[in-house]
Amino acid sequence: MDRVPEVAVVGAGIVGLCTAYALAERGASVRVYESGVPGHGQSSGQSRIFRHAHDDPRLVEFTRQGRAVWDEWADRLGTELVSRDGVVALGSAVPGRLRILQDAGGIPVRTVDSAELRARMPMLADYEGPAMLDEGGGAIRTRAAIETLAGALGDAVVTEEVISVHPTDHGTVEVLSAAGREEYATAVVCAGLHTARMARGVGLSLPVRPAAHVRLTFQVRGAPPERVACLQDSSGDFGETGVYAAPYPGNGRYAVGLSQTVEVREDGSFADPGELVALNERARAYVSRALPGLDPEPVEYLHCWVTSLPWSEDGMAVWEADGIFFAAGHNLFKQAPRLGRALAGAALGEGLEDDLRPAAELGRPR
Ligand SMILES: Cc1cc2nc3c(=O)[nH]c(=O)nc-3n(C[C@H](O)[C@H](O)[C@H](O)COP(=O)(O)OP(=O)(O)OC[C@H]3O[C@@H](n4cnc5c(N)ncnc54)[C@H](O)[C@@H]3O)c2cc1C
Repeated sequence: MDRVPEVAVVGAGIVGLCTAYALAERGASVRVYESGVPGHGQSSGQSRIFRHAHDDPRLVEFTRQGRAVWDEWADRLGTELVSRDGVVALGSAVPGRLRILQDAGGIPVRTVDSAELRARMPMLADYEGPAMLDEGGGAIRTRAAIETLAGALGDAVVTEEVISVHPTDHGTVEVLSAAGREEYATAVVCAGLHTARMARGVGLSLPVRPAAHVRLTFQVRGAPPERVACLQDSSGDFGETGVYAAPYPGNGRYAVGLSQTVEVREDGSFADPGELVALNERARAYVSRALPGLDPEPVEYLHCWVTSLPWSEDGMAVWEADGIFFAAGHNLFKQAPRLGRALAGAALGEGLEDDLRPAAELGRPR
């Protein structure tokens, strides 16, 4: 039998794949356990937003560093991973967020007038309120990211469900899966919805709130624009205060969702499944009012779980017990390469970065 790798990673969503890739680039041997197909969980679907705007300056800095890792990996893997078309934000939160971004330094962000807004967002209805453009942001090419990272990891990704991860009495970590048991020097659990359950097995209680989410995709009317920004709209001018939207590769389709989610019970069941349908109706109504450049009949629905931490919808943290690391949070796609490098460093014994410890509450508005 081949030698057992040093590190086990549980989950081949974007966070697990980035962690494994970061371990591999450090020369560590790794095995990634995935119960389904890589990227089929919360990382599923086309397109996510890469934005620098956050309410916690520490998270802005983390994201700024993360953008450089996306670019480095895109060069090495030979594929575009984040578009260069920017992110437009609308609403009264703009001046405060702009200040945080400008204070951070090195992030190309500025206000835009309605003429430039029309150029950047040709399908948006007339809008006169506060608006800013994060030129360093863009649409994450999610499928390219999942496929190239999984491809680069090759046989290191195995299709197996992990039942339990726990420390042994001789300082290693045992992973029990459908295919048997293996011992590793350490393990990193990036199992999305199932991370909190696995952490309970080693005595950790993660305050993860599972919820359900829906995002709709619309066809652009006419020829796709050459460039189109992602959108964050908290203005309320079009009847909603928490909307995000991002183009698909090629700009022919645009995905739109409300930031609001539907809480589920501890066992994952819905108190009221109708709430999810109501959210999708609101997203459709928003598109009719705010985005006349889109055909208002959705062409795709993405229903998905999300896992948030209580201090912020952008919050993230890493818990540690006996050499096993558990990563949790929401809106992690954009953070995944930088978070993956941090998790790789921790797994290799360099210690966990202070900002990622749960007590730091990274992402909490300041
Ligand atoms: C509609 C939508 C829009 C979003 N928009 C944005 C955005 O614009 N920007 C952004 O940055 N983020 C966004 N997010 C959030 C982002 O997509 C997620 O935070 C991120 O994908 C989470 O990745 P993950 O690897 O932690 O989890 P997942 O992708 O869920 O991966 C976990 C993996 O672990 C596997 N697994 C679980 N248990 C086991 C087990 N026991 N054994 C083996 N494998 C296991 C699962 O099968 C899964 O593949 C959005 C999410 C959704 C749903």
